[in-house]
Amino acid sequence: MSQFKRSVYERSIYKEPGPIRDSENPFEAMVERFDVAAKILQLDSGFYEYLVTPSRIHITAIPVMMDSGQMRVFQGFRVIHNEILGPSKGGIRYAEDVNLEEVKALAAWMTWKCAVVNVPFGGAKGGVVCNPREMSPGELERLTRRYTANLIDVFGPEKDIPAPDMNTNEQIMAWILDTYSMHAKRTETAVVTGKPILLGGSRGRREATGRGVMTVTLAAMERLGMRPSQCTVAIQGFGNVGSIAAQLLEEQGCRIVAISDVSSGYFNAEGIDVGAAVEYSAAHGNSLEGFPGAEPITNEELITADVDVLVPAAKEDQITRHNAPDIKAKIIAEGANGPTTPRADDILNERGVLVIPDILANAGGVTVSYFEWVQDRQGYFWTTDRVNRRLDRMMRTAFDSVFDVASRHDVSLRIGAYVYAIEKVAGALRLRGIYA
Ligand code: GLU
Repeated sequence: MSQFKRSVYERSIYKEPGPIRDSENPFEAMVERFDVAAKILQLDSGFYEYLVTPSRIHITAIPVMMDSGQMRVFQGFRVIHNEILGPSKGGIRYAEDVNLEEVKALAAWMTWKCAVVNVPFGGAKGGVVCNPREMSPGELERLTRRYTANLIDVFGPEKDIPAPDMNTNEQIMAWILDTYSMHAKRTETAVVTGKPILLGGSRGRREATGRGVMTVTLAAMERLGMRPSQCTVAIQGFGNVGSIAAQLLEEQGCRIVAISDVSSGYFNAEGIDVGAAVEYSAAHGNSLEGFPGAEPITNEELITADVDVLVPAAKEDQITRHNAPDIKAKIIAEGANGPTTPRADDILNERGVLVIPDILANAGGVTVSYFEWVQDRQGYFWTTDRVNRRLDRMMRTAFDSVFDVASRHDVSLRIGAYVYAIEKVAGALRLRGIYA
C-alpha cells in the first residue's frame, strides 16, 4: 500500500504526469485532485501519505439464505478512510458493479465532504455487491442484517455511522439499527442516519441532498449574475437527489427542460411539469419510461443539452473528455459523487464552466445526517423548518468559503474545495499529533 501511494505522490509531484486518460479508477481520480491541492498546500509527504491512505478496509463474506432455499454468498465492503475530525460517516451502496476502488474513493470523498461543510465527522463508505432489484424484501433484510452483524465491531454512534446511498433506503437503515441494537442489548438510534422518522430519523433528511444542490446552485447563479427565473436546467438521475433538486429548483422559478433516469430521458423546451414526472415515476415502479409530458432524449443529449445549469445526479464518470467539449451549461452542480472525470474537469475549466464539485454540492445529505445524529443523542427533535434553515446556512457558508479559497489560489471550485478540506483535516492532524 505505502509503496503504491509513495509512487503516486512522487509521480505527481516530482515527475512528468502520466498519459492522458479518463479515470477508470475513481480512487485515482480522487488522488489526482488531492495531488493538486497538496501541491498548493505544500503538504509534507508524510502528511500526504497519511491523508490519502484509507485507515481501515473491511472485506466480508455475507452468506444469505435465498427464498429458493439456496444459500448465496455476497461480498461486502466498509472502508474507513479517516477519523481525524470525528467518528467516520458515510453511506452504504448496494450495486452489482460496486468494487473496492470505488468504495475507497467514496470513503475519501466523505472525509473531504464533511470537512467542507464543517461537520465533525471523518469519512467512510460501504458497499455490497448485489442486484437489489432482483432480490425480495426478505432476502434484502437477511443480507442487511448479516452485513451489519459481520461489521458489528466497526459500527457505533461514536465510531462509524452508516447512511443510505445508491439503492439503500430508510428501511435498510431500520434493519441496521435493529440488528446493531439487538447486539448492544439497547436501542441505539444514533448508529445510523437516514432512518425513518418514527425510529429517530430527522425531518428533512430525505430531501436534504437535493435541497443542498438547490442552495449551492442558487449561490452560483448569484455569483454569475444569473436569475433563476431566466435559467433552464437539465437533471440526470431522478432518484432521491435528482427529483428533489428538480422540484426545488422549479419552485425557485427555474425551468426544468430535461430529466432522465436509468430507463429513459425527456426534454421539453417549455418546461417539464416536475410534479407530474414525480407522480408518473412513483406510479410506474420508480421509472420515467413512457413519461408523456416531453420528447424522449438520449443520455448524451441530456448532458449536452442547451441549458444554463446541468445537474448530474446519477453516478460516477458521466461527464468525460468525450462529452465535456459539447456541454453548453454555464453551471454544473454535482448531485452525484464523482460524475466528472479529471480530464473533463480540465476541459470544463478551460471553457469557463463553473463546476460546483460533489464534495460541496451534494454535502446536504451528510449535513442533515449530522443533525439527525445530534437529535438522536439529545433525544430532542427539530422542526422541518429548523432543519432546512440550518442546512441552507451551512451550505451557503461552505459555498462562500470554497469560492473564496478558489479565488485566492486562482483554481477551480473543485480544487478550492479540496484545499479547504485538506487544510482543515491536516490542521487537526497537526494539533493531535501522531500517537506512537
Ligand atoms: N451517501 C450520502 C453521501 O454520499 C450520505 C452520507 C451520510 O449521510 O452519511 O453523501
